[in-house]
Amino acid sequence: MAENPPQVRLHNSLTRRTEPLVPTEPGRVGIYTCGSTVYKYAHIGNLRTYLFGDLLHRTLEYLGYEVRYVKNITDVGHMRNDDHDSIGGPDKVEEAAALAGRTPAEIADFYTAAWLEDEALLNILPADVMPRATDHIDEMIALTETLLRKGLAYEVDGTIYYDVSAFPDYGKLSGQRIEELHAGHRVEVESDKHDPADFALWKRAGEHRLMKWPSPWGDGFPGWHIECSAMSLKHLGERFDIHTGGIDLKFPHHEDEIAQSEGALGHPVVGTWLHGEFLTMADAKMAKSTGNVIRVADLAGLGHEPLAFRHLALSAHYRSKLDFTADAMHAAASGLARLRRAVASAPDEPVDLASEPMASYRARFIGAIAEDLGMPAALAVAHEVASANALSDAQRRALLRDFDRVLGLSLDAPSPGPAALPDGATKLLERRAAARAARDWATSDALRDELAAMGVEVRDTPEGQVSAPSNRPPGRADGTTT
Ligand SMILES: [Zn+2]
Repeated sequence: MAENPPQVRLHNSLTRRTEPLVPTEPGRVGIYTCGSTVYKYAHIGNLRTYLFGDLLHRTLEYLGYEVRYVKNITDVGHMRNDDHDSIGGPDKVEEAAALAGRTPAEIADFYTAAWLEDEALLNILPADVMPRATDHIDEMIALTETLLRKGLAYEVDGTIYYDVSAFPDYGKLSGQRIEELHAGHRVEVESDKHDPADFALWKRAGEHRLMKWPSPWGDGFPGWHIECSAMSLKHLGERFDIHTGGIDLKFPHHEDEIAQSEGALGHPVVGTWLHGEFLTMADAKMAKSTGNVIRVADLAGLGHEPLAFRHLALSAHYRSKLDFTADAMHAAASGLARLRRAVASAPDEPVDLASEPMASYRARFIGAIAEDLGMPAALAVAHEVASANALSDAQRRALLRDFDRVLGLSLDAPSPGPAALPDGATKLLERRAAARAARDWATSDALRDELAAMGVEVRDTPEGQVSAPSNRPPGRADGTTT
């Protein structure tokens, strides 16, 4: 831990102000990010949210904080976000499993792996803990029992609802008032709730339900919101520093999480709530429901490496909408290439970053990232460094490599050209396609590892596997190169 990490200011959605970060424990920061619901591929709009979490993670570590980063995997539960509470709909994981003729666990494992591969391609650092909802059912039941005991929840025929009217602070994050919720709420078919604004903590399992667990109220399964309360409290404790998520999670997901966690404990749990804005395409939110979805794997087909998208994401503040356009991607790709040229063309000589003029550039970079993750300003400093006449080639290189600990653009990597696949890769790819057709996942995974060791990345899409020479140098897991 650094002696005195620089002061960081963040825009807290709860207070609607940009405030100094005051960690519960000096020098240490606990972060919880709502992770992916693993029944389909993540798209680059989802990944923009995880990139923002990664920039927070990297910024705090760069500034000398010790970070404990928790990002969950939502592999069960009612997850629809368009209704306040959508008990009638099927579970998304079960639905996807039924369509694919697989088990829910197979679906969850497949899309978890795909999500984490996409994150790795965008240089999103792994979280310290990635809890799965299905591994925390006991904690969710215990939390639900506490809320019942405290008079904040009630049971109707094996289903437990949170009683929103019993928690006076309900609405403090989103600014929603219960009266407005009533006015705006459409008439629900489910009439067993005392109040339309109440939401399910635990749901009685229907006859055909596959993912269900025994509970004091009979077989059932958790609501989506209780999952994040249970996992964040378990892995970060009863008071932690930062909770992040996409802006669409603010209500009802995070509002309900506050009602659950604070209702159970009787005190505030999260210090700072951060929400990232949408990625848009043609000015519409990128979402599966609107059909305008692009995956990381699609970027290659558009002529771009994944990290060009990371450069694009850095060019907009996390609290601003960002429009994904061909022009913006081309500008991002050339910006990335420009920074890489400044690193590649320079000799690797020892440079003292604490001496002038490097210290001044570094202070400006730190000032930018510490002020509510001001990545556009930080990226501008990096581009200024790339062409600064006052700096030698070696100084430019040293500064950019230092900034890259936050930017995460792999500035040391050569910009990828239309490189050919190495000898033997085509044969392995054919064998892997055959293994996948035969549903021989073990062989398929082994071949993917073999290809990775040759420097070939393979990804699986609904249209089959796609491959590309890796941006990383070929190497084995132990660090030796072939
Ligand atoms: Zn969550």
